Amino acid sequence: MTNTIITQPRMWESIIRKIDSRLRGNDNVTKMKKKFLNKKEAKQLISKLGNEFAIVKNPGYIHPEYELYPLAPKIKKPANVLTASVMDMDGTTTTTEALCIHSLGFMVRKLSGRMTIDQWKGLDSVKDYPHIIGNSTTKHVEYLIDKYQKTFINDQIIKSFLYAAGWTITYGKDNKRKEEVILNLNDFNCADLIRDERLIKLNPSSLPDDEDEEQLSKYLFLQYGAQFKKPDSHSLVRIGIDVYYQRYHEILERIKLGEGKFIAENLFGNPEKHLIEAMPGIEIFLPMIKGLITSNEEIYFNQLLLDYEIKCGKNFPESKIDKARKSFYNLCKHFVKDPLKAAVVTSSIHYEADIVLREVFKIIYAKLDKMLPVSSEKNLILNKFKDHRNYYDAIITASDSNEIRLKPHRDLYNIALYKLNVPREKFDQVVGFEDSESGTIAIRAAGIGLSIAVPFAETSGHNLKAATYVCKGGLPEVILKHNLFLNLR
Ligand SMILES: [Mg+2]
Repeated sequence: MTNTIITQPRMWESIIRKIDSRLRGNDNVTKMKKKFLNKKEAKQLISKLGNEFAIVKNPGYIHPEYELYPLAPKIKKPANVLTASVMDMDGTTTTTEALCIHSLGFMVRKLSGRMTIDQWKGLDSVKDYPHIIGNSTTKHVEYLIDKYQKTFINDQIIKSFLYAAGWTITYGKDNKRKEEVILNLNDFNCADLIRDERLIKLNPSSLPDDEDEEQLSKYLFLQYGAQFKKPDSHSLVRIGIDVYYQRYHEILERIKLGEGKFIAENLFGNPEKHLIEAMPGIEIFLPMIKGLITSNEEIYFNQLLLDYEIKCGKNFPESKIDKARKSFYNLCKHFVKDPLKAAVVTSSIHYEADIVLREVFKIIYAKLDKMLPVSSEKNLILNKFKDHRNYYDAIITASDSNEIRLKPHRDLYNIALYKLNVPREKFDQVVGFEDSESGTIAIRAAGIGLSIAVPFAETSGHNLKAATYVCKGGLPEVILKHNLFLNLR
């Protein structure tokens, strides 16, 4: 029907009838012509959408208070065909949680003026972590503001916000972030800061050190503090988000500039600590599903056994190794014939995902380079892993949607399926991987019945009931024990 110009009303009617009947299929529900329903009719219609539903709460300024998502039925039977893999970034492909948690804790420190360990020991890993990992930044900040608000000091709130706003406008690289900050400056009666002469004169490519920060912070507070309009609790969340992002983006920018070791020493007392790390098994999983493993299967398999050990803290059972090896070889062969489409789906904004994926792919590249003997196949693989944009068919970030529609909302996964060009009737050929409660819900809410939880230390306290399978052994377990949920004869 592309490019067809329709002028006759009758033709319109006939075409609409045809489309309508195609859409309707045998399903009685879609026969309903009504656009508005009473409670009883709505109840009937909703009950036909599925047997399981997720309740997703909205932030305070969204109607309605919560949304009900019908979840795709769990697919327990191994699939005969797989078409696509959709995978979360933080906690599944990589770990940046240490940085995110640090930045959230830093936000609480700033707003309460308790900058040292003596003044405040920091976030509680048992009580706080389940609420600040794996959800949207808004939800994480909302939780922390609610819990720690009583410790905040008014002048500290103003000072922290003005510095975060000044930094973001001057040094920030993400335009959406800048827009948010400008909106907040307007709301808090501090719009003049956008055109502040001292800020304009700063060099945007030379990040401020601690002393510069102290001076700039004092200056902005003296200049704009008095006119700052007192925030209500919703506005406080927006301030918290700006303070959090300023810290997180500054760290990412320094990593990008090659100052990773300095940051690691400064924040965690260990210059060798990797701030961004690849998850065990990802260096095998990614080339495998793209059909890039055409030789040296034994080398990959042995690495997978090592990754299993790293992830589980114990060896893969000796008695099962031969069977797992055979299955792995078959999987590799299968994907050479039928490679999967692959998307990474993250609640991080594009600016963050770009830096994080760049770092992870550097690590994967180095691992493969070290692992594989010289060959033309090796060159081919390394070439794919030179740049994450070479590898993925789609990269979906929070910048494709909006902060208020992130996981557990289904939107990011909807966009992934759309970008991968997978139609609804093939959703049962898609496998999704997540490490968190909200992620596993988002996958099923988007219509994918094969939602695999691969929890790691920081998300081990999450409720993973929405997942079809929970693989504590991560990606190595997915391949070694579950054959990637494929039924290969
Ligand atoms: Mg995650």
